[in-house]
Amino acid sequence: MDELVHRTVPSPNWDERKLPVSMVVLHYTEMADADTALARLTDPEAKVSAHYLISEAGEVIALVDEDKRAWHAGQSFWRGHPDINSASIGIELDHPGHALGYREFAQAQLDALVPLLARIVERHDIPRANVVGHSDVAPARKIDPGELFPWDRLAEYKLCLPRPVKLEAGDPFDNDAAFYLALERFGYDVTGGHKAVEAFQRRWRPERIDGQVDGQVRAILFQLLLDRDQGRAR
Ligand SMILES: [Zn+2]
Repeated sequence: MDELVHRTVPSPNWDERKLPVSMVVLHYTEMADADTALARLTDPEAKVSAHYLISEAGEVIALVDEDKRAWHAGQSFWRGHPDINSASIGIELDHPGHALGYREFAQAQLDALVPLLARIVERHDIPRANVVGHSDVAPARKIDPGELFPWDRLAEYKLCLPRPVKLEAGDPFDNDAAFYLALERFGYDVTGGHKAVEAFQRRWRPERIDGQVDGQVRAILFQLLLDRDQGRAR
């Protein structure tokens, strides 16, 4: 067992993968505390799980073996694939979420997440562009881990794509239909319409989440696509 894991509490909620691991999905638990979340993630009646739960104090609890399919993403989609549970490692962060009082993520929790995520990404050779939030793969249903999640910090360690700084491509799209096509090309399920735009904003422009396709949002998406296609980010 990995030395980054403090304890293992096996969850019965898993089945066999149908795809190799190529993604990581980050969540918040939206529960009062880690014990409550742990009870739910290991309850056979609940039919939910994740590979790891990280408490606010930084305890890493392994629930499902990485080679098994945990049940965390639900109905979801990324870069053409609908079975995200089969393709991903799921990490739940103990946190009250938007429902119980949205707040900054705890430092100790992030200090535990960074090395765990680094190990996972290395072990499975996961592209940075495939380290995502639950809201990225289920934009019509989910908003976790939300706009206070410090993606910038993970990006410093090259564990996810950084937010584009220089928007050298400017604003290349002049209508929403073109934007949605590009958003789908990047990976999102766009059938939820403006919900997909909100999910994109939550991840890439959290200062304003309004579902509106404005010039800055268009420029950010175009820069992300450009960087990926030029091999600067995979
Ligand atoms: Zn989630």
